[in-house]
Amino acid sequence: MIKFDLHTHTTFSDGKNTIEEMIQKAISLGLDTIGISDHSFTGFNTSYCMKENALDEYINTIKRLKEKYKDKINVLCGIEYDYFSEIDTSCFDYVIGAVHFLKIENEYIEVDNDKETLIDCANKYFNGDIYKVAEIYYSELANVVEKTKCDYIAHFDLISKFNEDNKLFDENDVRYIDAWKAAADSILKTGRIFEINTGAISRGYKTKPYPSFDIFNYLKNNGAKFIFSSDSHSVKTIGFGFDYWRNIYEF
Ligand SMILES: [Zn+2]
Ligand SMILES: [Zn+2]
Repeated sequence: MIKFDLHTHTTFSDGKNTIEEMIQKAISLGLDTIGISDHSFTGFNTSYCMKENALDEYINTIKRLKEKYKDKINVLCGIEYDYFSEIDTSCFDYVIGAVHFLKIENEYIEVDNDKETLIDCANKYFNGDIYKVAEIYYSELANVVEKTKCDYIAHFDLISKFNEDNKLFDENDVRYIDAWKAAADSILKTGRIFEINTGAISRGYKTKPYPSFDIFNYLKNNGAKFIFSSDSHSVKTIGFGFDYWRNIYEF
């Protein structure tokens, strides 16, 4: 059994449960480490992230609960740091780097909101060329370590969130493959860890983790290290699917 989960959200950002509720659930599941990693503040879109002035309270709450539960579980203070965030990350135990927005001209377009947002983006800027949208996503992701100084990479192919059964684009298309390979090669050079993220399965968007099995194999064959993450937004999904998927995503 995998006894840790470092990608979890709470009421400090877009999660449903408090930090303490997440910790208590992790204890009841028998984990030995739980990391809290709420979304860092992004001024251009505040709908899902931590409030700008909430950071001290977040850090102090985790510190207090770490002490309170120290005999039962190790509690870590992380952050899911968006590519376009601009906060000091030196106070965290670890940083998860994530691309959630495409910056096109002066617009920040959400990657993981819904399928229509991505189609509208392709129509508005690229004559309907959805592969161009994917190329922009991966060109940002290629720089995620440089930009966020992260320890590990969140949901590598988040752009595939609404692409179950290749409904939005063909993941075997050479343009798509070239785009993710360029990002993979860039991140591989940094030696950072890649996440195997089951969050879109537990929330009903996908039937498989991020990254796809093809991407996982490419990363693995090129020496990548991995970590399982649930990207939980409630107590119900901590450690979701780890035991099942670890037999398939073997590393
Ligand atoms: Zn994310
Ligand atoms: Zn997350």
